[in-house]
Amino acid sequence: MDQSDFDDRRRALDAAHRRATEFLGSLDDRPVWPRANLDEMLDAFGGPLPDDGTDPADVIEEIASRADPGLVAIPGGRFFGFVIGGTHPSALAADWLVSAWDQNSGSSALAPATVAMERVAGQWMLELFGLPSTASVGFVTGGQLANFTCLAAARQAVLSRAGWDLAENGLRSAPPLRFVVGADRHGSIDRAARFLGIGRAELIVVDSDDQGRMRPAALEQVLAGGAGPLIVCLQAGEVHTGAFDGFQALIPIARAHEAWVHVDGAFGLWAAATPTLRSLTAGMEQADSWATDGHKTLNVPYDCGMAIVRDPADSIAAFRTGGDYLMYTGLDPWDVTPELSRRARGVPAWAALRSLGRSGVVQLMDRLHANAVAMASGLRSIPGVHVVNDVDYTQVMFRLESDDATRVLGRAILDEGTAAVTGAEWRGRATQRCSMSSWATTTADIDRTVAAIRALVLNA
Ligand SMILES: *Cc1c(COP(=O)(O)O)cnc(C)c1O
Repeated sequence: MDQSDFDDRRRALDAAHRRATEFLGSLDDRPVWPRANLDEMLDAFGGPLPDDGTDPADVIEEIASRADPGLVAIPGGRFFGFVIGGTHPSALAADWLVSAWDQNSGSSALAPATVAMERVAGQWMLELFGLPSTASVGFVTGGQLANFTCLAAARQAVLSRAGWDLAENGLRSAPPLRFVVGADRHGSIDRAARFLGIGRAELIVVDSDDQGRMRPAALEQVLAGGAGPLIVCLQAGEVHTGAFDGFQALIPIARAHEAWVHVDGAFGLWAAATPTLRSLTAGMEQADSWATDGHKTLNVPYDCGMAIVRDPADSIAAFRTGGDYLMYTGLDPWDVTPELSRRARGVPAWAALRSLGRSGVVQLMDRLHANAVAMASGLRSIPGVHVVNDVDYTQVMFRLESDDATRVLGRAILDEGTAAVTGAEWRGRATQRCSMSSWATTTADIDRTVAAIRALVLNA
């Protein structure tokens, strides 16, 4: 490489650093919801592919300027939509290194440093969650792929126990597989099932209670009399209410029918990391697989999810690849996930955990819960606002008397700009949801948000 190429690289990185810092510095004052829509952004970036190139640093300046009105203030302290974390400083900076290093992290032979960091981050998480230290941890893009990855291992294993080699003989003539889910499962479970050849009509749905927790008696009833390969999907952290399935009651019922038990804990698994919330997850360690996210509660950049499987042999059976040119050195990332080449997405997770330490993770979790409690109490103090769910974890759902007024309020909150919340239907009623998932949210952020919502409600 000649000196001018090296200079291009440095100037482009300097520009990115400066513009990234400017963006982060603007978070406290900018409207949380974007001012520009997709069509405006397509105009900003569109047009025919230019014939001539542009200086790399100028490209970065262009990107930063044109994107700005269409950016959502997700890394700030007042984005409460969906269930979405911010970005912890160490994780963000580590993510820049990941791109600069450009390590192909599917294989330890090819990328020993990043694969080692991922393996250690995985171990640390197992320790935080109270899960078996021998489980495999596959870093994937998020909760969706973590659910898929775990359930692919599950399908392989339950069919294998029934004497069917799925890898050899495929699904078409396999023994029938019962796939049991809760009524308030996350939509990514249905998609994972679909990717695995299990149709919507084949899902066996178990009734849930008012917070969205699977009813043990209903599970018992659904499983009675059946036989053969069985997967039961449970949930730690319902996406609206934050509720946890009662693992201590449910898992023994599933076990009595020789089920593989999977737990979707995209944001809920993290409750196990702090003594104050751990009881929510009691019994969950008895499951066979667990899906969770790094980019939600741990506050690492996109994309980062973890597929955890109790017996690594089950993930290997589902995912290990052939290919004589691939160098094998034992348990590699590509043995336990669907990907081959990929970025070292576990490195920011290592950085966040190293930076927080165990006590920092505990404090983070306790603060997210305290923020939810404070938000709920602030919202309850506004005339006409009802908090809909039990605020046991990080989720707060609220509504006004009428569904129309609730929807109008949701739009008004986004337009006003102080905070972002997102709408949903819960038990047939329109609601607005706030998720406390960001390390950056302070008490002042909660107060500002409650004040803004109060003003909108009173002036409506
Ligand atoms: C967010 C979420 C998912 C999906 O995770 P992604 O990271 O968006 O792929 C799955 N399950 C639950 C309960 C979730 O909250």
